[in-house]
Amino acid sequence: MSTVTLKHVYKIYENSDKKVAANAMPAVSDFCMEIQDKEFIVFVGPSGCGKSTTLRMIAGLEDITDGEIWIDDKLVNDIHPKDRDIAMVFQNYALYPHMTVYDNMAFSLKLRKTPDVKRDKNGEPVLDKDGKQIPIMRKYTKAEIDEKVRHAAKILAIDEYLERKPKALSGGQRQRVALGRTIVRNPKVFLLDEPLSNLDAKLRATMRSEIIKLHEKLGATFVYVTHDQVEAMTMGTRIVVMKSGFVQQIGAPQELYDHPINTFVAGFIGTPQMNFFEGHITPDGKLRFANNQLITLSESVMAEFDKEKIGSGLDVIMGIRPGDIKVVDEECDNSITARVEVIEALGNETIIYANLDLDAEAGIEKNATSITVSAKLKKNPERRSKVIFGIDEEAIHIFDKATEISIRK
Ligand code: ADP
Ligand code: MG
Repeated sequence: MSTVTLKHVYKIYENSDKKVAANAMPAVSDFCMEIQDKEFIVFVGPSGCGKSTTLRMIAGLEDITDGEIWIDDKLVNDIHPKDRDIAMVFQNYALYPHMTVYDNMAFSLKLRKTPDVKRDKNGEPVLDKDGKQIPIMRKYTKAEIDEKVRHAAKILAIDEYLERKPKALSGGQRQRVALGRTIVRNPKVFLLDEPLSNLDAKLRATMRSEIIKLHEKLGATFVYVTHDQVEAMTMGTRIVVMKSGFVQQIGAPQELYDHPINTFVAGFIGTPQMNFFEGHITPDGKLRFANNQLITLSESVMAEFDKEKIGSGLDVIMGIRPGDIKVVDEECDNSITARVEVIEALGNETIIYANLDLDAEAGIEKNATSITVSAKLKKNPERRSKVIFGIDEEAIHIFDKATEISIRK
């Protein structure tokens, strides 16, 4: 079993610029989470939001300014990294260039010790004067190292390359060796910090599924850092979305997609990005947005939103995902008319960038009335033509404009 628990964890870098240190923002603030055994957790967020810092604190490579980190039932705040039973893989996996793949993987085991009991030359335990076995730490034997290296190589399908040097390997194979170095140690928890960022798009997709399979095979707990929301959505059993050192939301991929807690999560998860419009909603379900568009939400949809928050009317940010808008032939309930600015025909779907302000100057710049729609179409509309969009009212997200927090109950 290997759980990781973070309780109100903070990190303030001591060496951050002295002039701003007095009011410097913590790199990580009040991080609370229980990572369950065998979970695949992804930390995602823009660059600088504190993902690596959190991972490094779990690994013990960075001191914790405040709070507690537990691995299983052990408080590890003051436990040395090498005693935490954790393995970390970085974006820049430095393999030793002069060593073979085999030696790169065997190297960390040669430096490590394993618990055993004192034995005589026949391998039989030696007993102390009370007749008890004597616990010791000893080096791994050659045979033990060999078994672990070959086992890891097999799991990663690099057993053919054990005698090669890293320079004779592709990027993906090298990344596998870097993973292999951690697998041989059989750690409780794997920490991976953007391990695929240096690979090209195709290889990244392959390695993504390799790592998912690896997680299944090893049955260990994984914590994976990425700035790429697609990676997060496809790999994580749960995702932690971070911004400026604060956890925004923790949940399963679909949960974050369907019920984002605020505009940041809503905009970060999902591609193309959710459309946002400033608007106003009244208790009878009239939603005005994007200057003078109006749709009326049904009672059943209104029941999903917090009536108390809406009060006698509330300034809101309305959100709708590009895939929740259809191109329709005629005006109908909850349809809006727009003018097409740009079409991206991707084959299986078409992305339409349009403007709800029919009199606006032509252009593709994003403004208060621009809207993105992704739809499967038999025939793509012409540029500058008028199109009618039907909005799926069930899929509308509403955020309080003042707090940017969802008013969904
Ligand atoms: P991420 O991995 O999400 O891109 P980091 O955890 O690396 O973000 O960084 C979080 C914040 O802490 C950033 O503002 C970064 O500049 C700052 N930071 C990271 N490492 C150090 C350090 N060693 N000293 C001072 N500030 C740091
Ligand atoms: Mg980082």
